[in-house]
Amino acid sequence: MKETKVVKFGGSSLADAKQFQKVADIILEDPARRFVVASAPGKRFVEDVKVTDMLYNCYELASEGENFDQQFQSIKDRYNGIIEELGMDDFSLDEDFETIKGAFSHMAGRDYAASRGEYLNSKVLAKYLGFDFIDAAKYIFFDERGNFDWDKTSEKLAPKLAKTEYAVIPGFYGSMPNGTIKTFSRGGSDVTGSIVARAAEAKIYENWTDVSGFLICDPRIINNPVPINTITYAELRELAYMGATVLHEDAIFPVRAAGIPVNIKNTNCPKDRGTMIVSETAEPCEHIITGIAGKKGMSVINIEKDKMNSEVGFGRNVLRALEKSNVSFEHMPSGVDTMSVIIQTDALAGKETAILDEIRSRVHPDQLFIETDLALIAVVGRGMKSARGTAAILFTALAEARVNIKMIDQGSSELNIIIGVAEEDFEVAMRAIYDAFIEVKR
Ligand code: ASP
Repeated sequence: MKETKVVKFGGSSLADAKQFQKVADIILEDPARRFVVASAPGKRFVEDVKVTDMLYNCYELASEGENFDQQFQSIKDRYNGIIEELGMDDFSLDEDFETIKGAFSHMAGRDYAASRGEYLNSKVLAKYLGFDFIDAAKYIFFDERGNFDWDKTSEKLAPKLAKTEYAVIPGFYGSMPNGTIKTFSRGGSDVTGSIVARAAEAKIYENWTDVSGFLICDPRIINNPVPINTITYAELRELAYMGATVLHEDAIFPVRAAGIPVNIKNTNCPKDRGTMIVSETAEPCEHIITGIAGKKGMSVINIEKDKMNSEVGFGRNVLRALEKSNVSFEHMPSGVDTMSVIIQTDALAGKETAILDEIRSRVHPDQLFIETDLALIAVVGRGMKSARGTAAILFTALAEARVNIKMIDQGSSELNIIIGVAEEDFEVAMRAIYDAFIEVKR
């Protein structure tokens, strides 16, 4: 079988004609890049508006019965500008524009409206490359409840790809059982790319964007942090949970199930190696840790009671109190006579008294109080398992930076250590950890 790479290009990679040319160069340079998944045109400059957002706005006007001619014209202008600048004289989207405008007037649905961004862009790209165009509406399916349906999708998509040599497939959407268009959540073209990679049994899923992969830490906190060369899916999940995002959360699952690696690459610096996301790797870690991520906006309910450990159902009763107020928790580190429940401050808002009263009446604690303004930091790395003294390095660094640690939670997989610090110590703590593990090793 021919070697296949599935390549997905994000909105900034396809925002204008110049970007289209870079994308075409990348694709045509390697004959294995057979299936291309395209996003809608993104922002060309900071204040610019993504075509997807233009479509949402335009459809809103249409559904309120307002005139949307001007907004629709701006969308047409984005595509026509690209087509013209690429010199595609014999190509026009006019018929599609007519159909879409008509469908807007007839309330074709918000998802349908948004999906047209990738639909139109993929048509332009397919023509420009001389590739087939495969409409995702006919090959990517959701079930009655709106969940992605892999069985139905693979049944249709896999044979189609097997008999297609080169094609462009729009990202972000598929069809419901009744034929209406449904989109994934925002940024969902990443998910389409992953699905296509799995259906094509690709050797690799290249996800092209505007950064050269993941960085060990948020560059807004650490100046010029080192890039991550290789990360496992499990490590990525831990970091993504803390808000480190480049790839859509759901994009991991289809390729992970098939063991297909993902390579995050930069359209503007194609020679950079980017980050490889893999199931497992024998590659030695360059640093003990793979990444550091964190988030503010957490609260902790502290519960103390002598002999808590011997009281059957204690934990369940505490969690019941949360359940009653419909609040979920993030972590629950505990000691012999203490238990802390970490919750997002937003989720707790207005429910504090009800939850504390309920806990009091259920478990009669000796002490019970809430602390707000907590930040969590996850220090993640497959290398921590084999390295001795990781915790010592971490805690020494924080002590030297005069950061008080309010909570520690280490998963039994030894893949991560999560610490809680006061929100005001967040940046100092992140820098201290980074310097302790990375800077000295340079
Ligand atoms: N165009 C869609 C969005 O802006 C999907 C994507 O780009 O992945 O969310």
